[in-house]
Amino acid sequence: MEIRRLKLSGFKSFVDATELRIEPGLTGIVGPNGCGKSNLLEAIRWVMGESSAKSMRGGGMEDVIFAGTASRARRDFAEVSLLAIQEQGDLFSSAPVGADGELEVMRRIERGAGSAYRANGQDVRAKDVALIFADAATGPHSPALVSQGKIAAVIAARPQERRAMLEEAAGIAGLHVRRRDAEQK
Ligand code: ATP
Ligand code: MG
Repeated sequence: MEIRRLKLSGFKSFVDATELRIEPGLTGIVGPNGCGKSNLLEAIRWVMGESSAKSMRGGGMEDVIFAGTASRARRDFAEVSLLAIQEQGDLFSSAPVGADGELEVMRRIERGAGSAYRANGQDVRAKDVALIFADAATGPHSPALVSQGKIAAVIAARPQERRAMLEEAAGIAGLHVRRRDAEQK
């Protein structure tokens, strides 16, 4: 899976609609302290289904919604969408991928109403989104998304945790979810 574009609106410090095109190769985001670099990485995690508010550096999930400043009113919703292209070897099996291999996943949260997801315009469940990214060997906990302190966490991880990282990298994490589902039926 190749990420091509990230769109944000009302997400953390990105109150105005913001579009970030991601070209092939290495992308660098530079800027002064507090300008929102980490918020962008968090937006990628969030749209992939991150369910822990703590890992978004918040107390509750609604803390991702623009909270307002002295000069701007707070927002009532936040929206992030990610445009990805299917690559050879991706399963993308649970996704309604377009003929051009494009998949746009969108997550929206409203105050008091929780999160909702869409994939190429269709309403989908959080679970479907988790499978889409797991099948493409990525997701909110992918080792490819390296945040501050993560290197030390890998070194200190217990063997089971390290195994989970390897399984995500190998793209088989989705199989565990499906097995658990099958066992419950
Ligand atoms: P550093 O270089 O220090 O790591 P950074 O560029 O990674 O900085 P971020 O941590 O992404 O910066 O952004 C922090 C900024 O985002 C702070 O100014 C904080 O007030 C703002 N912010 C976070 N959540 C919200 C929110 N819900 N509403 C408005 N602003 C927010
Ligand atoms: Mg940062």
